[in-house]
Amino acid sequence: MSDTKYIFVTGGNLSGLGKGLAAASMGRLLKARGLKVTILKVDPYINVDAGTMSPYQHGEVFVTRDGAETDLDLGHYERYIDIDLTEKSNITTGQIYQAVIEKERKGSYLGATVQVIPHITNEIKDRIHGLCSQDDETPDVIIIEIGGTVGDIESLPFLEAIRQYRMEQPRGHVLNVHLTYLPLIPTTGELKTKLTQHAVKELRAIGIQPDILLCRSTRDMDDEMRKKIALFCNVPFDAVFSDVDVKNIYFIPLAFEAMGVGSKLVELLSLKCGPPDLTDWKDMVEAIKNPQGKIKIGLVGKYAILRDAYISVLEALAHGGIANKVDVDVDCILSEKLENNENWRDLLAGYSGIVVPGGFGDRGTKGKILACQYAREEKIPFLGLCLGLQIATVEFARNILGIADANSTEFDELTPEPIIDLMPDQKKITRKGGTMRLGHYPCIIKPGTKAHEAYGVDVVKERHRHRLEINNKYRDQLEKAGMIMCGLSPDNLLVEMIELKDHPWFVGTQFHPEFQSRPQRAQPLFRAFIKASLEHHRRVEDLAPGRVEERVKI
Ligand code: GLN
Repeated sequence: MSDTKYIFVTGGNLSGLGKGLAAASMGRLLKARGLKVTILKVDPYINVDAGTMSPYQHGEVFVTRDGAETDLDLGHYERYIDIDLTEKSNITTGQIYQAVIEKERKGSYLGATVQVIPHITNEIKDRIHGLCSQDDETPDVIIIEIGGTVGDIESLPFLEAIRQYRMEQPRGHVLNVHLTYLPLIPTTGELKTKLTQHAVKELRAIGIQPDILLCRSTRDMDDEMRKKIALFCNVPFDAVFSDVDVKNIYFIPLAFEAMGVGSKLVELLSLKCGPPDLTDWKDMVEAIKNPQGKIKIGLVGKYAILRDAYISVLEALAHGGIANKVDVDVDCILSEKLENNENWRDLLAGYSGIVVPGGFGDRGTKGKILACQYAREEKIPFLGLCLGLQIATVEFARNILGIADANSTEFDELTPEPIIDLMPDQKKITRKGGTMRLGHYPCIIKPGTKAHEAYGVDVVKERHRHRLEINNKYRDQLEKAGMIMCGLSPDNLLVEMIELKDHPWFVGTQFHPEFQSRPQRAQPLFRAFIKASLEHHRRVEDLAPGRVEERVKI
């Protein structure tokens, strides 16, 4: 039996209370005490992974370095705990059932009736246990966040598995942290505890007694309320914490630490560790609180009405802001709004930088092409991510090379000018799940380019998620016209990064640099993009003071 300790995080009442951020913040507090922490997200849906879901369903698909297409909470975990997670860090009902059915067909359970208890629950427990024996050292603590809300039918097998897990581990090795809601009745200005009481009742009905309660609310509760919650929920008074709204998500770990969440975890799990060192996190929070200016960035995408669809991009832009000591205000602009709109230029005016993020399918591409054209012509710093690189290349081919029909075969399969085409090894693939070019691949960076200046090294590894690429047949033409292929795969066959010669900062990446950005260590391209945007902002301000603000109002 290993000495690893476990923290299970569940949520009651309703979704969207910030369980992922709470789990990530607890991870940070433990890591700050010198402990080795890892974290697992359990998603009770039947999809094998998040890769086939629309971002409208669950927000962005986060890609790990080993190429797993996972829940966006893994992004929060990586950013807060500053660790690289793997395909083992996200399990779904689909994966569990697939594994059990596979074993059944192999005959691993010969003679048995295969059932939710014990076969499904055992498989779940095995996955959790599997995290104790990762390739490097054994973690001191594993945090396991159970997605969904307690009371949902689909999360029941997972809750049953964690109930059993606690029973099977030595006493004091497992903690249950439950996140609940404290609504504020606006007319009386009162926080109410009844929902929290019900959420805990629901959890206890399935045999789990929470050890710690995090009560999400708009304001702090007083000791009377904490006493009441403690009494009705059977949780000690000093293990009932407020989880109050904060201005910036990176303030949460410090708010938790100040309330004593970190020391409570240490005490209840008898963890052997030193005092927390949160100096670097505090410095980062100070930088967020004291920006020396503000810039506006326009992000043009097709899922723009849901910010979660671009969460890692938005976070990476914020990290670029922290590194440049500037507040970055990002407007998400629905690309379709630019289409068939004679005033489309007005919608892009006033931004100091433009981002075209990743995406799939034809809808909204015309608007994104206009965004690329605008950034190129107006010399606005531009960052194109994956589809953003592809669209920028199509725009360049149409408007600079004069190839009117230039297109991506993703949008027009039979286009006579397939500037962007399926990668050769993608052509025979018909199955959709997990079949893209996924995860880390090396990229050789051309010296003397903006990309090289940003990274400061010759080779980088970045995370991919795509099927299409710049068609090599057009590479020469594009280069002659001023597009620099500044990043290439080691075999020279794939263009991984582009930039434009006659432009202050116009970079496109076939990979997703946003996935490797951290609040204390902005990803180099995001840091450089924000720096260039800040310079652009200052240039425009110098030319005409007040002009930017006027444009922003449009
Ligand atoms: N749809 C494009 C491709 O498959 C871009 C993917 C993306 O932006 N992640 O190559």
